Amino acid sequence: MAQVRVRFAPSPTGPLHIGGVRTALYNYLFAKKNNGTFILRIEDTDQARFVEGAEEYIMESLQWAGIKVDEGINEGGKDGPYRQSDRKAIYRQYADLLIEKGDAYYAFDSSEQLEALRTESEKAGNTFIYNAANRDKLSNSISLKESEWKEKLSKGEPYVIRYKMPDNEDIHFDDIIRGHIVVNTSTLDDKVLFKSDGMPTYHLANIVDDHLMEISHVIRGEEWLPSLPLHILLYRSFGWNPPLFAHLPLLLKPDGKGKLSKRDGDKMGFPVFPLFWPFGETAKGYREEGYYPEAFVNILALLGWNPGTEQEIFSMEELIEAFSIERVGKSGSRFDPEKAKWFNHQYLQQRTNEQLALDFREFLRAHGYHFDIVELEVLIGLVKERVSFVKDIWEQTDFFFKAPESYDKEVIKKRWKDDSASLLLELRSVLEKIDDFSSAAIEPVVKAWIEEKGYNMGTIMNAFRLVIVGASRGPHMYDIISWIGKEETLRRIDKGLSVIGK
Ligand code: GLU
Repeated sequence: MAQVRVRFAPSPTGPLHIGGVRTALYNYLFAKKNNGTFILRIEDTDQARFVEGAEEYIMESLQWAGIKVDEGINEGGKDGPYRQSDRKAIYRQYADLLIEKGDAYYAFDSSEQLEALRTESEKAGNTFIYNAANRDKLSNSISLKESEWKEKLSKGEPYVIRYKMPDNEDIHFDDIIRGHIVVNTSTLDDKVLFKSDGMPTYHLANIVDDHLMEISHVIRGEEWLPSLPLHILLYRSFGWNPPLFAHLPLLLKPDGKGKLSKRDGDKMGFPVFPLFWPFGETAKGYREEGYYPEAFVNILALLGWNPGTEQEIFSMEELIEAFSIERVGKSGSRFDPEKAKWFNHQYLQQRTNEQLALDFREFLRAHGYHFDIVELEVLIGLVKERVSFVKDIWEQTDFFFKAPESYDKEVIKKRWKDDSASLLLELRSVLEKIDDFSSAAIEPVVKAWIEEKGYNMGTIMNAFRLVIVGASRGPHMYDIISWIGKEETLRRIDKGLSVIGK
């Protein structure tokens, strides 16, 4: 294979959807697998859709996910600049070249005129297409006399440059994922290549830049497939060799019906963006929700690509090793928010208790609790298997840090027996006498006492958990009381007895 050069070419029109991050990831994996170059090109020629902060958001998202850019705005590179608005001066000559060749033309129709024609056709049950079928009836350098359109140009009338779509021709091309495709040009329109504001459109800038940047493979979302016949024709008109193309399947809603949108995420409580988006209508991000970047990448990697084995957990290095475009499917991939959490759970389990304790200590500090790492490590060891996120640790351990403020009424009704209070009082005095308050030391003493007296273990432990935790949840009782210590344990028994009563 010739030198692999791929690009991720987002438009800075808002926060980057996770589908966009997946496109970047697949480009990156493909480049790294083939010792190639991964380029980040910002396509900001549509000034009306430009959103402040979006470019920085894109870069920060890639950085967070560990997708390293080889050539880009910050990285530099031989084919810069990498922001299309900084390349403005490049494009006009290419539009002119197409006009000279007779493959493009000037068009003077105003958007109001075109809009009127569209509505008129719709009323008659037709679709208006600006192409060979209508071109002659419109105001352009094909329909008008040369003297007329030249005069318009010299008077400075606003115009756009349109591609002259061939009439009724079958265009053949290949897509690595979708195979051979044939499209007849009669369904295509004379797309605008150059706008009256002096900027190229996406189509022209994209093709010119892919050529100048020597892009070998264009890997992008399926939504760009309809543009491919035009792109192929543009390469033909310029006399350039096109790159190879691979159009990635859509990311689908959890129910599999349609494209995954922000609304689905809002409804079901999961993010569809990598990072929190702070501008205007804000949006949740995977980073802020507590996902590890490694988990996030792993989730995206398997939404569309499959390794052909049962393996699900992949590091970035393993993904690079295993990735191939041939194993990307044609059909859309359903996003499963529960599976996403499962991935984070797996990555959290791989962390050491010490790493988690350090992260959790930050969380506790924000809540006004100060504990040393060693104590927290023990605590984390008790609940780690039950949590998928660092923030979940608090939900599983809040009662370690504070005595219950209330006691679960259902549990009282079901589990608080007539003799619960007197048994707890007796347990209190057993515990009071124990000097070594480690879990391993307390357990046999309490068990021996219950056995000797012939008490019901369930009644005692249910009541005990209720006064210590406030509910019937949490890890092993002896681990809990050992961690909170003897004094606190006795205090909680007293408090529980006084609130729940006899
Ligand atoms: N600027 C386009 C986008 O926003 C790029 C499409 C392509 O990769 O050609 O997705």
